[in-house]
Formats: sequence, structure tokens, C-alpha cells
Amino acid sequence: MNYSLPEFLAHAIALENESAERYLELADMMEAHRNDAVSALFRDMVHYSRLHHTSIVERAQGVTLPRLRSWEYRWSLPPEAGGEEAFDYTLDAYNALRYARENEVRAMEYYTSVGLHSTEPEVKRLAAEFAAEETEHVAALDDWLARTARPSATWQDDPDRSAPV
Ligand code: ZN
Repeated sequence: MNYSLPEFLAHAIALENESAERYLELADMMEAHRNDAVSALFRDMVHYSRLHHTSIVERAQGVTLPRLRSWEYRWSLPPEAGGEEAFDYTLDAYNALRYARENEVRAMEYYTSVGLHSTEPEVKRLAAEFAAEETEHVAALDDWLARTARPSATWQDDPDRSAPV
């Protein structure tokens, strides 16, 4: 996809906004589970997504942003979730982390692919910067996954899902 700068900025703003909202939900859920450590991690992710969102909004000052036609920036839902209510059930910490990781990987791949395919130097530069940031988020979640007990059942055993490395 060869994004123009306004298209890219519009997607990045939407993507960071979506991340902040989903992390807020995950943080509240972990709090309800009394998992304060993972809740705090997700609140940090809310904070960083908002900071990133704000800086992209600032970068977009004076740029007329297009209305988005794609839904690429939305997080994918865990397979048990029906319809729009992503969190109308309880996720344990391990699966919450896996879910977040999967979406961070999508964001990383998204920015990477935009960086590779865009012909605009500014889009390439920003996309590479954002991809590096998402790579750090994936690594942070991998650290947490390595320290979090795996529950006995459900979707981490699903062969369609890639294992965290
Ligand atoms: Zn991220």
C-alpha cells in the first residue's frame, strides 16, 4: 500500500487511539482479576499509546487528514469473543498478554509494510520509527509472557495461532 503522508498519519492516529482504548479495557479487566502487576503494565501501555497519539496529532497539524476507509487499525478480537464486544468474557493474564502481543505484532507488521511500500520519504521515515517502537512493545510483552503462568486450556492451544517465541 503506497500511503500518502495524510493517509499514513490518519491511520497511525487511529491505530494508537485504538491501542489506548483496548489497553485501558485490559487494565480494568486485570484489576478486576486482582492482577495488579499486569494491570500496571497495561496502564503503562495506555500511557505510551496516548503519548504516541499526541505526538502524531501534533505532527499532523496543518495536514488535512482523509476519512479512513479501512478498518486495519482496529485490534483483532480473541476467537472466543463474539461480535463487537471484545471483552464480554474474562481473560486470564496470560491470554490477555497474548492477545495484546498479537495486536502489537499486527501494528509492527503494518508500519513495517507501509515503510517498505511507500514512495514518500517522510512516510518511510515515520513508519520505520513507529515499527521500531512496536517492536519494543512486542519484546516487552514477550518478557511478561515468559514470567506469566500459562493457564491449562483454551486458545493458546489453537494450532491456528502462532506461539509466542
Ligand atoms: Zn504498541
